[in-house]
Amino acid sequence: MKEKNLIIVLSAPSGAGKTTLCKALLKKFPEILYSVSCTSRPPRKGEKNGRDYFFVSKEEFEKMIKNNEFIEWAKVHGYYYGTPLKNIETAKKLKRDIVLDIDVQGGRKIKKKFKDAVMIFISPPSIKVLKERLIKRGKDSLKEIEKRIRIAKLEMKEKIFYDYEIINDDLKEAKKKLFSIYIAEKCKIRRKDA
Ligand code: ADP
Ligand code: 5GP
Repeated sequence: MKEKNLIIVLSAPSGAGKTTLCKALLKKFPEILYSVSCTSRPPRKGEKNGRDYFFVSKEEFEKMIKNNEFIEWAKVHGYYYGTPLKNIETAKKLKRDIVLDIDVQGGRKIKKKFKDAVMIFISPPSIKVLKERLIKRGKDSLKEIEKRIRIAKLEMKEKIFYDYEIINDDLKEAKKKLFSIYIAEKCKIRRKDA
């Protein structure tokens, strides 16, 4: 029996704790690859090109769309974001599991292309807590935070298209749930080609 590599999609409204949980998953299971996305958004303080994102201009991004370099792409909060096709190909070639930290629009596109993708939605305990976390994170302006909250309410409706929901209230518990989902998915028989 040949094992297939897993494509794990992590989606959440901005500020729900996706980056925190994703980092924890990669630390616990270093064999998992992280899909570094491309974006036309300017880097935030502390972000590194090639590690957090590949930061490109709007024009460069549009050229990449034309060249079919993305497996999926979407406009989120006014900027382009996309998963390079190469990331998925590399994971397949290396037979490594890969985690995609992408928005709900991208998540839907991935699920359409890869029926076996493991779809995980991370929810904040409430919109109030979400706003508090975004303010505390201190990386976005208040105007940007208000915009993210408005979008968050719409994104929350998309969770019905996901396989799992993790409510990120207590971080330790949320991590435990994420690790458990990964372990359970690795044990699934349907993922093995006979
Ligand atoms: P996202 O990647 O979804 O935008 P982050 O992982 O950056 O979110 O988390 C947003 C903020 O909330 C960060 O400052 C992070 O440290 C904090 N945070 C994440 N999870 C929790 C939690 N369970 N309890 C309290 N704060 C959290
Ligand atoms: P941020 O600007 O906070 O890093 O990300 C904003 C949103 O864009 C998040 O929901 C994040 O998951 C999403 N995102 C990041 N990379 C991609 C991608 O490659 N494709 C899509 N569709 N969304 C992405």
